[in-house]
Amino acid sequence: MIREIHAKTILSRVAGVDTHFGLDYGMNLYRGCQHHCIYCDSRSECYGNDRFDEDVLVKVNAVEILGKELRAKRRKGVVGTGSMNDPYMPLEEKAGLTRAALEVVAECGFGVHVVTKSDRVLRDIPVLQRIARTSTAAVSLTITTMDDDLARRVEPGAPPPSARFSALARLSEAAIETRIALMPVLPFLEDTWDNVSRIVEEGYRCGVRTVIPWFGMSLRDRQRSYFYHRLDESFPGLRERYEKAYGCDYVCPSPRAVALRAPFEALCARLGIRTSVRPTLAPTVEEPQLFG
Ligand code: SF4
Repeated sequence: MIREIHAKTILSRVAGVDTHFGLDYGMNLYRGCQHHCIYCDSRSECYGNDRFDEDVLVKVNAVEILGKELRAKRRKGVVGTGSMNDPYMPLEEKAGLTRAALEVVAECGFGVHVVTKSDRVLRDIPVLQRIARTSTAAVSLTITTMDDDLARRVEPGAPPPSARFSALARLSEAAIETRIALMPVLPFLEDTWDNVSRIVEEGYRCGVRTVIPWFGMSLRDRQRSYFYHRLDESFPGLRERYEKAYGCDYVCPSPRAVALRAPFEALCARLGIRTSVRPTLAPTVEEPQLFG
């Protein structure tokens, strides 16, 4: 079900140094997500969204509030979107909050970083180009497998990786900075060198010059239950491997994480691909690194 709500605030300051995406601020224009990725951490109890897979809430006053909040900032930075929902889920075609928010970001002279799994982002190339004239305008496509069929099972509502690579190529042609969020790389499903290296190489061919990896995933409370339920449906027998490897752990690195890291860094260095990003503003409080 799609429902409209009114938000009190939209913009949040990113704590610490965000080496994954280089963000200074974050914003969520929707609550809930139509992509239904089986591993999504946004289902965790701490986020208080009991109906993550049933309802999408549209923050109808988000753009107005965003404008006020951006104009009140003394220093301009990079605003990120796409961490708790996908800003280009199917609903965006009608609701249009992401495009309207990008227009406000452009007017206010801030930068933007969008994380998405959808080629719908191509619609907004003109406004991204406007932002890029004075600041950062970067788009990360999340890609964790080269296999469209596997992606259909783990990210059932999202466009296939092949469409995401095509989107990266078109964004690069339009001089938009493109990146790949190579995360989460699911243990026992996606954590092979063949998969990882092919994603990097195909990304390079599509003009990508930044790849941010996380060779592992997170699991906790009801998000873990949901993930295991979906594993039982689509990958019989795999849940037991997860239970044995991780028990009740929240951070679940791939058993191959260490072995993948060195060749990944070497491949990226050879191709001139960055594997981390710095924010533009000084950090707030330092936070420990969660992902290896
Ligand atoms: S696209 Fe992102 S927010 Fe949406 S379900 Fe997938 S992981 Fe969660």
